[in-house]
Amino acid sequence: MKKKYCTAIVLAAGSGKRMGTKVRKQYLLMGGRPVLYYSLRAFEKSGVIDEIILVCGPGEEPYCRQEIVERYGMSKVKKIIPGGAERYNSVWNGLKETKAGYVYIHDGARPFVDEEMIWRAHECVSEHHACAAGMPSKDTVKIADSENTVIQTPERSSVWIVQTPQVFDTELIKNAYAMLMEEDEITVTDDAMVAERMLGSAVRLFEGSYENIKITTPEDLETAEVFLKRRS
Ligand code: C5P
Repeated sequence: MKKKYCTAIVLAAGSGKRMGTKVRKQYLLMGGRPVLYYSLRAFEKSGVIDEIILVCGPGEEPYCRQEIVERYGMSKVKKIIPGGAERYNSVWNGLKETKAGYVYIHDGARPFVDEEMIWRAHECVSEHHACAAGMPSKDTVKIADSENTVIQTPERSSVWIVQTPQVFDTELIKNAYAMLMEEDEITVTDDAMVAERMLGSAVRLFEGSYENIKITTPEDLETAEVFLKRRS
């Protein structure tokens, strides 16, 4: 069977407030290159991905084009578009630009996505239509009320930490997002949740990696330098 066309939407329009630096987290340097470079490179070099849509902060398109896409010869980046106020706005902007069979939605701030993961995602989406990278939680997770009193402790063996890429049949996730954007109050934090809530889709988790961290706070950048050194 012919492989379906695959688009990767790479998100880089976040404000990175939690990093506490002037430079947005996706542009911070890691091994001398922006964090975003590594996320893009994984999709650029992938045998699965046909096209990349880069979503960056409004007004940052020229920087992304010159300093990342052209500088490092990322020829699969076909569109560089502005994101929105919230992550879901940025995803929606990206989704409107693709007609692919499958779409990979990935946080640009996760530089350690790799080719094996991209293939696992492909295998998973071909069979299950909606899937997300994740890893079993190493810690016990508690659900607490607004006063920090524990109200529930889910069985650890069923708790997963969810990452990106999250990968979908494009029509499915476009329909789910179109419905979401009609809502008055939107409280989603990942794409799988949009498919679950809007369409009741069963979302399958596939193995990401414990190194597939999201660079969010300064100590993440230190950890990332260690992972990077080990890889080179
Ligand atoms: O804010 P958070 O850490 O959840 O962001 C995850 C990813 O989504 C980051 O790569 C960030 O750049 C992106 N994002 C975006 N547009 C927003 C908010 C976040 O593209 N409005």
